[in-house]
Amino acid sequence: MTPCLPGRTPGSWSFALSTERLTMNDHRRLGRELGIFDTDPLIGSGLPYWLPAGAAVRKAIEDYVHELERRDGYLHVNSPVLGKRELYERSGHWAHYAEDMFPPMEVGGEEFVLRPSLCPHHALVYRSRQRSHRDLPLRLAELGGMYRSELSGVLGGLTRVRAIQLNDGHVFCAPEQAAAEVSAALDLIEAAHERLGIRAARYRLSLRGDGEKFVDDPAMWLRSESVLRDVLRQRGRPYDEEHGEGAFYGPKIDIQIADPAGREATLSTVQVDYFQPERFDLRYAGGGRPVMVHRSVVGGIERLVAHLIEVHGGAFPAWLAPVQAVVLPLSDAEAPAAAEVLRRCVAAGLRAELAPADRGSLGARIRAHRLVPYQLVVGPREVASGRAAVRLRDGSQAGEVPIEQLAAQSRPFG
Ligand SMILES: [Zn+2]
Repeated sequence: MTPCLPGRTPGSWSFALSTERLTMNDHRRLGRELGIFDTDPLIGSGLPYWLPAGAAVRKAIEDYVHELERRDGYLHVNSPVLGKRELYERSGHWAHYAEDMFPPMEVGGEEFVLRPSLCPHHALVYRSRQRSHRDLPLRLAELGGMYRSELSGVLGGLTRVRAIQLNDGHVFCAPEQAAAEVSAALDLIEAAHERLGIRAARYRLSLRGDGEKFVDDPAMWLRSESVLRDVLRQRGRPYDEEHGEGAFYGPKIDIQIADPAGREATLSTVQVDYFQPERFDLRYAGGGRPVMVHRSVVGGIERLVAHLIEVHGGAFPAWLAPVQAVVLPLSDAEAPAAAEVLRRCVAAGLRAELAPADRGSLGARIRAHRLVPYQLVVGPREVASGRAAVRLRDGSQAGEVPIEQLAAQSRPFG
């Protein structure tokens, strides 16, 4: 045996489930039981933290979305989670969105605000270089923190939080490119939903409402609404129009999801914005003003994971599962062979753990790991062959499958 890893055994993910029957898929209860996340009053409400199993799911999503965006021509950037108050005055957030923002912090005579969105930072990234028409569309993406001063009464689990890790992106394009970019963003969203195993409850065209929450420029709204409406009609997908649900700067196509109780929330969104390019005086050579297409493929990671827990009841697709393979020696006699199988799983890139024989009968250990996609049983026959017999979580036997093949099946892009 040639060791290819330092001699460390992966720690337990605290993933073993109680053998109680899971009833309702409430993400708060299931999320704690699966070791996805937890909260502590000393950190504060609306500020959950991610446990190892949750951090593994989150990393899998982040890697997947990053790669999906990369293949679609996005360039990734990173920007700070706060900025000067003047930045948000310029973007319009201060005038239209202040009640959802944390109050400013004074440092050295300046006021800083935890950002309520990533758009202003990305507008400045655009503005940092000379741009010409042939640089467009410029697609920038970032998975970054944003903050919302939600009242503690409405906070719960991962669905309403004060610190959001947002999959965000902004396409800076010429006006005549906007419709195609909106449609391309919807393609990306639909591909991601399919891979994640989730279904939209409905598509919503969210329009401006009355009052000072919305920028008062009727001609601008008409223009941006007609881009979104045309794309929706062209794609032939049914949608509802709702007034008062738009962003302060423009209308949105919102892709709504529903929890088991039927409560709706927005997961993915595509928006057309003529307002912030003007506020930041964005230009491209020749005097053109770009349009900003804001889009989020999977929304905030917190809300997405809450939804995934509920949709899959914890039985995530293999590429997302916190533990993808569990190694089950029949008895102590197979312990060395099981350790070798585990080592090969980890080396092949699988998230794997060992359930040794002293943790109970094989049946009890399988029940405790019933959400793990691949259960690798190691008995005397497998010791002789140097392989493992793969049991799937629906109880079926897949026979002896090479570990490299299991690893390949456990990647989002195969
Ligand atoms: Zn934005």
